[in-house]
Amino acid sequence: MKNEKTLIVIKPDGVQRSLVGEIIKRFERIGLKLTAVKMIVPTADFIECHYTVDPEWKRVTGEKTIESYRKKGLTPPIEDPFKVTERVLKNLQNFMTSGPVIAMVWQGLHAVKLSRKIVGGTEPFSSDVGTIRGDFVLDSYQTSDKDGRSIRNLIHASGSIEDAKKEIALWFKPDEIINYKLVSEQILYDVNLDGILE
Ligand code: UDP
Ligand code: MG
Repeated sequence: MKNEKTLIVIKPDGVQRSLVGEIIKRFERIGLKLTAVKMIVPTADFIECHYTVDPEWKRVTGEKTIESYRKKGLTPPIEDPFKVTERVLKNLQNFMTSGPVIAMVWQGLHAVKLSRKIVGGTEPFSSDVGTIRGDFVLDSYQTSDKDGRSIRNLIHASGSIEDAKKEIALWFKPDEIINYKLVSEQILYDVNLDGILE
């Protein structure tokens, strides 16, 4: 389980806000290990492939978005989850191709769920304080929908181990992912801590 991997992408707003260092720091300080990194400007087709590696993404994202409106006592702009996602994807293609992004593979115990925890919920306005989205950005569904654009939330993080595998294969060639040891892994994972005391 300590070899679990996740794909993290710092979106164009994260690069423009000069938050690359701050974001990397959050993954480092929790104990995850950076095993691959690159900067690219994605194409619209690539972004569609990325978001549709999970065949359920269109339905789940539409339902999640509609639900978040209802929770706030608001009427969702569209009732059909697939139609909602169609719009989300178009906006995402504009957003994600607008400038460079940083793609990374982070590895470690519970990498996928831990990363989602430190990244925070999709909508920065309602994501928890202490999370990256909650601490560094202020966007809301209400505003992004009104302006007809993607919600600006700094980061993509894989939603499941299955998605992570497919997304990593899409973004990285196998030889771009480095297998190596970090000294700190001993204190994080080893059963015996012999050798500390002299
Ligand atoms: N998104 C959006 N409006 C929505 C739903 C999603 O702009 O109503 C964007 C947002 O940038 C989000 C991305 O689409 O991060 C992917 O959506 P998903 O539901 O997978 O959220 P995530 O996994 O990134 O939290
Ligand atoms: Mg997602």
